[in-house]
Amino acid sequence: MSLLKVIPLGGTGEIGKNCTLVETENDIVIVDCGISFPHEEHYGVDIVIPDFSYILANKEKVRGIVLTHAHEDHVGALSYLLTQLNLPLYCTPLTEAMVRMKLEERARNVEVNIQRMTPGEKFKMGQLEVEPVKITHSIPETSAIAFHTTEGIILFTADFKFDKAPVDKILTDEKRLKELGEEGVLLLLCDSTNVDRKGWSNSESEVGPSLKEIFKTSEGRVLVTQFSSNIHRMQQICDSAKAAGRKVSIAGRRMEMTFNMCRRLGYINVEREDTVNIEEAVKMPNNKIVIIVTGSQGEPKAALSQMSRREYSRVKIKKGDTIVYSARPIPGNEGGIWRVVNNLIRQGANVITDYATPIHTSGHASQDEIKHMYELTKPFYVAPVHGEPRHQRSMSNLMVEWGHAEHRIFMLENGDQLHIGEESAWIDEVVDFGEVFIDQNSNSPVSESVLRQRHVLAHDGVFVLSIVVDRKHGELVSRPRADIRGMNATAKDIEDVLDDLCTILSKYQPSELSSPDYIAGQILEAASKLVWRSTRQKPLILPIVEMI
Ligand SMILES: [Zn+2]
Ligand SMILES: [Zn+2]
Repeated sequence: MSLLKVIPLGGTGEIGKNCTLVETENDIVIVDCGISFPHEEHYGVDIVIPDFSYILANKEKVRGIVLTHAHEDHVGALSYLLTQLNLPLYCTPLTEAMVRMKLEERARNVEVNIQRMTPGEKFKMGQLEVEPVKITHSIPETSAIAFHTTEGIILFTADFKFDKAPVDKILTDEKRLKELGEEGVLLLLCDSTNVDRKGWSNSESEVGPSLKEIFKTSEGRVLVTQFSSNIHRMQQICDSAKAAGRKVSIAGRRMEMTFNMCRRLGYINVEREDTVNIEEAVKMPNNKIVIIVTGSQGEPKAALSQMSRREYSRVKIKKGDTIVYSARPIPGNEGGIWRVVNNLIRQGANVITDYATPIHTSGHASQDEIKHMYELTKPFYVAPVHGEPRHQRSMSNLMVEWGHAEHRIFMLENGDQLHIGEESAWIDEVVDFGEVFIDQNSNSPVSESVLRQRHVLAHDGVFVLSIVVDRKHGELVSRPRADIRGMNATAKDIEDVLDDLCTILSKYQPSELSSPDYIAGQILEAASKLVWRSTRQKPLILPIVEMI
């Protein structure tokens, strides 16, 4: 039996909470530790993280975490793991800076041990030899990760595209990818996010000229919204603004923190006189200012969303403002984004979500780039990752078209144990895995049963039924009382329920009525049926029995 295993705890069958283990007889190395976002019905949940039970159960084997890049879906859950198990992190300087910034906010008491890694330089984690390889994506310093094992090379592409003209001019190390292919890539874990897009993605540097044109031709202020981690985009906004005679300002705390940190470390180059703080910005002539603003995904607390609701005191939307969406909606966020857009338009803003030339480009590979990766690395086994089943299936179909044997493609799901040997590979039974729902106010998990209760409350409200029993005589002291919240019911509906409940309770023996737990259970059962019959609703029913 092969002792080499790859176990995704997140990031397969979904886009988000990337966290995959490479396990050998003696060592476990974790690749990334990210978050995803909750569905609409996960009331009160801010983020979703992987279940770390398997990592904690095998903690003596875990050698550390390698980070491919600094996006939240790859590093956002670190604070939750590190507070339980303080592992060394291996990453590049920018990823280190962004992780430190986030840990400062979320896990101040963790003394994090960060080891710098450099693309092209191998290092050891336990007995596993690890090699980062430079790859282009929508954030600088993204690395593919190659594990040199006795069975062969396991290669994670990480999130990638082949950007032929990246803003920082650092290209993907195609030469090294090709060499790895020649050495023998046993398994390629390949980003499948944009597998359904034909051709080749636009280069990030193609966005700059479109922004410049908008900055030059707009008469009023221009506000640009984008992901706060898209550092190259910020650089292009600064360059384009300067070319159009505008100064740059930032609205939104996270964007400002990232911008300032990147500027300090030299990842963003902009002269001090070309930026102004937001208080100065709002006093400047309209055609002299560009404001970079958070909220491209309609996040309710972000600056742009607050502006759309007229709640952002520092910047008020004015007639003639132009707002540029330099980001695509993450599927699922469209409703919230359009609500913001509509409110901005109501206030007289001109909103640009689409343009003749690109105002946004994706950081993920389109079909021809995936094919290029496949041809460079010539993998024996392939696992499409960073995708939902539909993306994984599309990639699998494409690879079969390109001549890859179907039985050497693995459609992994979270928790699967993929055993890999030189002769064969197979998926074994699942390890402990799952989703942990986090409420960031309390910074603690929300249980499934609490979520189920919230779901019921949100749909049909709550029905509180109180009875008072004379313990000595085993009889009701008065008619039961009902209190409802969030139920769509008339007073008559409720009275009907209480009438029927009285009739039912009159049939119980005094000894039964004076047993609080028993009678509460009986009321719950009877009331559930009566409420449904009378109102066609299924509220949360809370029986309260008081003995006097
Ligand atoms: Zn990414
Ligand atoms: Zn990602």
